[in-house]
Amino acid sequence: MASELCKTISVARLEKHKNLFLNYRNLHHFPLELLKDEGLQYLERLYMKRNSLTTLPENLAQKLPNLVELYLHSNNIVVVPEAIGSLVKLQCLDLSDNALEIVCPEIGRLRALRHLRLANNQLQFLPPDLGRSRELQYVYVDNNINLKGLPSYLYNKVIGCSGCGAPIQVSEVKLLSFSSGPRTVFLPAEVKAIGTEHDHVLPLQELAMRSLYHTYHSFLKDLNFLSPISLPRSLLELLHCPLGHCHRCSEPMFTIVYPKLFPLRETPMAGLHQGRTTVSFVAYCCSTQCLQTFDLLS
Ligand SMILES: [Zn+2]
Repeated sequence: MASELCKTISVARLEKHKNLFLNYRNLHHFPLELLKDEGLQYLERLYMKRNSLTTLPENLAQKLPNLVELYLHSNNIVVVPEAIGSLVKLQCLDLSDNALEIVCPEIGRLRALRHLRLANNQLQFLPPDLGRSRELQYVYVDNNINLKGLPSYLYNKVIGCSGCGAPIQVSEVKLLSFSSGPRTVFLPAEVKAIGTEHDHVLPLQELAMRSLYHTYHSFLKDLNFLSPISLPRSLLELLHCPLGHCHRCSEPMFTIVYPKLFPLRETPMAGLHQGRTTVSFVAYCCSTQCLQTFDLLS
């Protein structure tokens, strides 16, 4: 079986195949054969559904840089590595029927992505910036029973979300949550504090991060730019990659967000999901002003 797999991949490599079918192979690990030497530089579509993968390699984008479609339906993937954000040509990503609890924010960097399939996982939230890309048109999150909020950037996309938002279960992960009426929504792990309309003053660390960001914005590509000003590595990385951007004014946010909940019935997508879901849209704002003035349809 293993040698047959190696042969299939080496033929694809030699003959510069654009499509590779590795469905139903009982794979427990991503095949090393796909990653050795320079990888498969010509591959555009990789089909790996119904295997037993639990993770993806960090160097995926380096070895398969021209992937346009990636099908990983029905595996046991728990974590999607940050490196997924480097698959710049990816248009279709299918992670349905896996064991995902968290989707890394880097998925929001995939500017070519049109279809994202995350149905039948264990998701509680999606990255705040998901949906900023105009290209992203279709997002399927059906049957993620703990998912009660979607980033408001998704409000005008085609969304599959039936079977979401069942009564909340106690989670092992400590996540911040906020409630609006009967609904409780968990926020991404990156969020360290939640602001409300009464919190007019930002925490000192957040103020410092925002000031530094504006001062050094144009140099941010180089992580050593602050020398001789020294910051702990963790703060430097946070500065480099904010947790999200304000849905009202697009300013970066680093530790605190001001969330606002919009029930699905108040949005254009309401008709599609009537009675089958309790998912809402969540706007992430940077301040009390943005919280007060943000509206989904504005
Ligand atoms: Zn704002």
